[in-house]
Amino acid sequence: MITEMLTRWQTTPADWQHELRQAIRDPMQLLQLLDLSPSQLAQPLVLKPGFALRVPRSYVARMRKGDPDDPLLRQVLPVTEEQRQLPTFNLDPTGDKLAEKVPNLLAKYSGRVLLIVTGACAIHCRYCFRQHYNYSATSSLLAAVEFIRADSSIGEVILSGGDPLTWTDNRLAELFHQLAQIPHLQRLRLHTRLPIVLPQRVTHELLNGLTQTRLQPIMVVHTNHANEIDESVGYGLQRLVAAGVTVLNQSVLLRGVNDNAAHLINLSEMLFNYRVLPYYLHRLDRVQGSTHFEVSKAAALHLLEQMRIALPGYLVPRLVQEVAGMAYKQPIL
Ligand code: SF4
Repeated sequence: MITEMLTRWQTTPADWQHELRQAIRDPMQLLQLLDLSPSQLAQPLVLKPGFALRVPRSYVARMRKGDPDDPLLRQVLPVTEEQRQLPTFNLDPTGDKLAEKVPNLLAKYSGRVLLIVTGACAIHCRYCFRQHYNYSATSSLLAAVEFIRADSSIGEVILSGGDPLTWTDNRLAELFHQLAQIPHLQRLRLHTRLPIVLPQRVTHELLNGLTQTRLQPIMVVHTNHANEIDESVGYGLQRLVAAGVTVLNQSVLLRGVNDNAAHLINLSEMLFNYRVLPYYLHRLDRVQGSTHFEVSKAAALHLLEQMRIALPGYLVPRLVQEVAGMAYKQPIL
């Protein structure tokens, strides 16, 4: 089966970089591709949002044509609800600024640090908690690497952003090499949405880079709905797992996207078809512009209960919320 798919789909760095450049950036063009008009939307469209629209064409191809409520479309389409402001929603809901020890390095939790390697993403998710992050301040990782080298309590580095897989394979391999020189580091984790939204990104070169380092590779992908996982995505996930990468998923619980027990159960089942374990189901980080995505705590707990009834324990993600300044993600109880 895998050999058969491999012969049908050989992906190269040029393929994913080409598709990245071809991403849709115009809300009207996105609606046209889906046979929709602005009058069919429940909320007016924002034509020039501050956080620009960006969505790969292969991801658009997984949306249902003619459906203004498509769960993938809702994640990327800028609408006027984003302009609603509430005092409890702010620009930095997870306390990133407070956690920044040196440029591009956040230290929130014991034994782990997070490197903000880029501000670039393949897709712009309207609920993103870093949509207001000042990425223009990010540049060199030199100080960050030195910080890690100087602190022997750090055992794991998490590459984040933005999306670290927007870096080329060569650039990533160079960073992996630098990190592997630090004797106390054990694990290398990547937080990425690329294998979901642009599955061609799972190249041979990426797999080589991840598996040739002495560090134990972990990839935490981000998918919110089973409709995001087509055959190409599944194949990429299988290749990562087969190469020896531990692959986990984190989702965000989003009103109008996945706040439905059947959808969440289906997502967990679908992930495990490709040997990926559901890790976290996050309650929304209260970032300005995302009020319309929030699901109440009571509703979230009810969904979790339904998942527990329907699924084996290993397919039930941990329902959590990040609270700025806390030593770990807070379980929702
Ligand atoms: S891919 Fe991740 S970092 Fe990028 S916009 Fe989406 S949630 Fe934010």
